[in-house]
Amino acid sequence: MRKKIAVLGSTGSIGTQSLNVISHDMDRYTVEALAAGSNLELFIEQIRQFQPRKVSVATKELAEELALHIPSYTEIYYGEKGMIEVAAATDADLLINAVMGSQGLRPTMAAIEAGKSIALANKETLVSAGHLVTQAAAKHGVKLLPVDSEHSAIFQCLNGEPKEAVSRIILTASGGSFRDRTREQLADVTVEEALKHPNWSMGAKITIDSATMVNKGLEVIEAHWLFRLPYDRIEVLLHPESVIHSMVEFADNSVIAQLGNPDMRVPIQYALTYPERRKTPTTPLNLAELGRLHFREMDYERFPCLRLAFECGSTGGTMTTVYNAANEVAVDRFLRGDIKFLQIEETIERVLEKHQLSLVPDLDEIQQADAWARQTASSIDFS
Ligand code: NDP
Ligand code: MG
Repeated sequence: MRKKIAVLGSTGSIGTQSLNVISHDMDRYTVEALAAGSNLELFIEQIRQFQPRKVSVATKELAEELALHIPSYTEIYYGEKGMIEVAAATDADLLINAVMGSQGLRPTMAAIEAGKSIALANKETLVSAGHLVTQAAAKHGVKLLPVDSEHSAIFQCLNGEPKEAVSRIILTASGGSFRDRTREQLADVTVEEALKHPNWSMGAKITIDSATMVNKGLEVIEAHWLFRLPYDRIEVLLHPESVIHSMVEFADNSVIAQLGNPDMRVPIQYALTYPERRKTPTTPLNLAELGRLHFREMDYERFPCLRLAFECGSTGGTMTTVYNAANEVAVDRFLRGDIKFLQIEETIERVLEKHQLSLVPDLDEIQQADAWARQTASSIDFS
């Protein structure tokens, strides 16, 4: 039987690679619904190719414009309601959540409540409200399948081993665009420089997150929720080549790692076909050609945002919600040329200092903390 898929963020980096994977194995899938933001040109192409029954875009204006270009039997929605419609109100078996940011939270919750499996790229959702998402998934018997390459690697290494057998997980980090620069050299870096990631081609926000190491911080918190491990059993190792995607050390000191060329289509497809493995449109790893792999200890002075993520994660509650939301605003401000690179971390620190923690927040409290952090981060004046 064909697997029925819905995709949030189909026009983005993960979204387009997901549709690429699907298009290489079209007999296995039908695309039930797609949601995008504002890239209508690409979205119209995708709708023509995959013929989803429901689609959604960011705003009413975009929805009206879209209606002029696609078949009239396609239902069009917009905004958060539209994302929820695409995520939860179709016959899809599985939702690929590939939107950027905590805006993915409500649609994910709705999809879980509707019993859909979730292929989760949108890590901000777990960082913002990991306890609610994992509780809801357990309650509804829904699978959360990691798309993030590190988490897919750990998921593959664990392969059903009991949690007691795991001594620690080791997340690898490429180090991002400024890996080899000192903190002094970061003061005046440009947006263009920050957007040049050495190993991966990704959306703008996650590329900046890789340079600040916030991305690894978000991934540490994501790993905590996905694999139910305390923070002192999650480690980060600098590995510039991004060939080992992550590893698990077991009680007997045996370490299992997952390797491959850096290509997101491998973890994306594994989330779609799990527990089966199928051919992917990617190139095989050639270790002899690579010759050697390198590793360095993580420097938490050089990358304070990673230290902050461990601290927020260990505190728990709305601390990680605020860490994430403050970062989303700071990255947006940096990309718009409104603040400097190092002011991203300063923003996060300053917002966290002001935050009044709620330890076991419900969904409304999460959204209030998220909105408060956004407002606070937007109003910091660096001039
Ligand atoms: P992109 O910025 O490339 O894509 C984001 C997607 O979200 C786009 O399709 C965008 O639409 C869509 N979007 C934005 N606003 C809305 C809205 N209001 N309603 C519906 N859709 C919206 O991001 P990435 O693909 O790089 O990242 C997506 C997620 O995956 C992030 O959480 C990231 O951390 C995670 N991830 C990404 C990896 C990568 O290799 N890129 C690797 C691992 C994780 P549009 O462009 O049409 O405006
Ligand atoms: Mg990753």
